[in-house]
Amino acid sequence: MGALKPGELVLEAPRRGRPPRHLMDLDMPGRKQAMAELGLPAFRADQVSRQWLARLSDTPDEWTDVPSDARATVAGALLPTLLTPVRSISCDDGMTVKTVWRLHDGALVESVLMRYPDRVTMCISSQAGCGMNCPFCATGQAGLTRNLSTAEIVEQVLAGARSLQRGEVPGGPGRVSNVVFMGMGEPLANYRAVVDAVRRLTDPAPGGLGMSARGITVSTVGLVPRIRELATEGLPVTLAVSLHAPDDELRDTLVPINTRWAVTEVLDAAWEYTERTHRRVSIEYALIKDINDQPWRAELLADLLVGRLVHVNLIPLNPTPGSVWTASSARAEREFVRVLADRGVAVTVRDTRGREIDGACGQLAAADAGDDAAGRGSMAP
Ligand code: SAH
Repeated sequence: MGALKPGELVLEAPRRGRPPRHLMDLDMPGRKQAMAELGLPAFRADQVSRQWLARLSDTPDEWTDVPSDARATVAGALLPTLLTPVRSISCDDGMTVKTVWRLHDGALVESVLMRYPDRVTMCISSQAGCGMNCPFCATGQAGLTRNLSTAEIVEQVLAGARSLQRGEVPGGPGRVSNVVFMGMGEPLANYRAVVDAVRRLTDPAPGGLGMSARGITVSTVGLVPRIRELATEGLPVTLAVSLHAPDDELRDTLVPINTRWAVTEVLDAAWEYTERTHRRVSIEYALIKDINDQPWRAELLADLLVGRLVHVNLIPLNPTPGSVWTASSARAEREFVRVLADRGVAVTVRDTRGREIDGACGQLAAADAGDDAAGRGSMAP
């Protein structure tokens, strides 16, 4: 797909070849039914799920509790390779690892693993490309290629989980504790697959990975009807809203979908989300020098947020190639924080992990990297 024209939005993903069906596309009843279709007893679904999700074993040959012919049948029918690593690059002494994946149809997506002293966060993609066309975001510039399937989303997390379990990330074996849908794509524009992926991550074993929904953040430009729907799923994930401006005039240009759902409509949906889930909403705000970082805009933002169950996450802008915009000065950033804090609005400044490997917020643009991505950087073992 070519670059988007200014202001052009793509809500519906183009129909391309669907990825092959995978075990992780299916819930537990679906897996039992799939076993029946393969002429296998239903309890194999349990065994296979335990291997895949609890033991994190992606090598059917090692599943000694399953007869070898059944292993071969399941592997052939339900375990196609969905993600092939193209390259993997790391920084922060190996604590941040970005992986570029090639999908079955050649589309490229990226995921980032970030290890901290007390947690491991995986930033994953929900679409190849993105149709939201935010001018400061690298992913947005190439347009939308297609939606990812549930399994393509889940497998990004499982790839990180396996790598941690194998001790490939410095700090000893570990587990993924947090997942943020802040990689490529607009998660709520691929609603069904994203919600199903969240269920797969949060369902207790053997159906799912058994993660806490509280550790999962779904970040959105503000697709209002979908925020409302998400509030009804009974999944207490953290909702993050990419606001970036408190006024419609500026937000119309920074987040073009604002022309459809304006600031107050988006925030009303966010407050409805907090009421239903009792979860604090996160407001994302990329600080862009002289564009949205004025103290009066901080005041306007505080007016909108004061007294709400909310937390503001300021993100120093990661300039994208060719962009005229840069990050705010340290002084402007401090002043912005001060205005919000003085008004009693919880605020933090996001760290910029992965910046030097183009793995920080808004830098994921694998589609641009094209085929020459292979061979550059170093492949993880
Ligand atoms: N489509 C989702 C997920 C996008 S990535 C969304 O818009 O929320 C997660 C966050 O990174 C979003 O808040 C996004 O606006 C922000 N972001 C995008 N490009 C950025 C950049 N160049 N610098 C800093 N933050 C950026």
